[in-house]
Amino acid sequence: MDFFPIFMRIRDRSCLVVGGGVVAARKIDLLRKAGGRVTVVSPELCLELTALQSRGEIEHVERGFREDDIHGRVLVVAATDDQEVNRRVSQCGQQHGIAVNVVDQPDLCSFITPAMVDRSPLQIAISTGGASPVLARLLRARIESLVPASYGRLATLVEGFRERAKRCIPNTELRRRFWERVLEGPVMELFLSGRERAAGETLDRALDAGVDARDTGGEVFLVGAGPGDPDLLTFRALRLMQRADVVVYDNLVSPAILELVRRDAERIYAGKKRNHHTLPQGDINDLLIRLAQEGKRVLRLKGGDPFIFGRGGEEVDRLMQHGIPFQLVPGITAAAGCASFAGIPLTHRDHAQALVFATGHLQDGTIDLNWDMLAQPHQTVVFYMGLSGLPIICREMAAHGLPASTPAALVEQGTTQNQRVLVGTLETLPDIVKGEEVQPPTLIIVGSVVALQQRLQWFRPDAPPTRGSLFASCTTPETRGATGTAEQAG
Ligand code: SAH
Repeated sequence: MDFFPIFMRIRDRSCLVVGGGVVAARKIDLLRKAGGRVTVVSPELCLELTALQSRGEIEHVERGFREDDIHGRVLVVAATDDQEVNRRVSQCGQQHGIAVNVVDQPDLCSFITPAMVDRSPLQIAISTGGASPVLARLLRARIESLVPASYGRLATLVEGFRERAKRCIPNTELRRRFWERVLEGPVMELFLSGRERAAGETLDRALDAGVDARDTGGEVFLVGAGPGDPDLLTFRALRLMQRADVVVYDNLVSPAILELVRRDAERIYAGKKRNHHTLPQGDINDLLIRLAQEGKRVLRLKGGDPFIFGRGGEEVDRLMQHGIPFQLVPGITAAAGCASFAGIPLTHRDHAQALVFATGHLQDGTIDLNWDMLAQPHQTVVFYMGLSGLPIICREMAAHGLPASTPAALVEQGTTQNQRVLVGTLETLPDIVKGEEVQPPTLIIVGSVVALQQRLQWFRPDAPPTRGSLFASCTTPETRGATGTAEQAG
């Protein structure tokens, strides 16, 4: 962040504006809305400001800027068309530690003013850090249309109950949940449908009734985070990510996705890498149960889909044994995400009528699978966790009846800006992969559909590839320095 976002109280505080034109008038309008006492230093005033001054709503000092003008101000705005004056105001403000803004000159500013959606007391501020004010304005227009005008009054209504809620529900955690229920439930519905009095009465009754006993326990959200690109999350995933108190995530959850989890949620890394179990599955189950029993809303965030090589079944089983409420949210599994983004349709009328997902995870140096069933014509087989076992996979598929010329692909870090697709055959793919520095996670697709990739590939990441993996396995402090061969084992 180049700028630290804050909202500043300036009611009845002295603000200085240097310049008396229409640009200054716009800023003065805002300052006065927030209750600031405005002094304008300028040899001349525009009509609008003259009117304000004659009504005694601003103070006017009729001359050019002098350094001692800034004493005792909480902030200074320079809005003149004289570069030299603007620069002097900026220097002087910065020297005295007074917040200073020079209109349209971000490099001279210690603070900048955002584009705003004003539903006071609710305010939404948007900033591009000066990079593109137009973009900020466009975004503001969209948000304007999204946030009903009544939200401001809603915030005022809620404000009126805050002190009482603090007394009735001293526990902050429970209180936050109470407010969430209020703002997601009937009170909100009533309010938005224009029945503001009824909304207030419902809120009143809800506080009288106190916190619902059933609501004091925690809950687990078992959420599939998809294959890596945050845009591939489901709406429900995103909503629950925003509600969690604590997130337990594994190494297939990309940092870009983790960014979308509620900012103040506690983050616990429970990633697993082959031969290096950061947290054994049993401990993860226990952790989820303990956190939920402490009354927390626990987000168990997993790459792809929790029920596809994700051990979600075991976690749900344990939660049920302990009577812990949970929600389960499917995600786009790696096979679906990687296939789409690689341009490899997993089924195709001319190529494959069946699709099998298999694990290529090595156990004791071998892969224990029903190879006869996998090595069938007109079928696509997707291997998860197959990077180290790739030579064995290709060898066994050929040994059990598929031609050695059967197309096969390896998709590296699918759906992300680091995606690469290596294409060959059962015979050639292992050597092709050996010649490249491949970073996990990777997925292997075997079958004649792979041949379509050459025609159907459409996704070409346009950012320069980042070295290493875009996934948590290589970016969390716990695993920094991990070698590129680590693969996730569910
Ligand atoms: N539950 C997950 C799979 C977990 S097993 C899902 O439904 O996708 C872990 C394996 O998934 C990895 O070893 C890799 O084979 C595959 N995988 C997950 N994300 C991937 C990605 N973005 N690109 C390639 N493979 C991926």
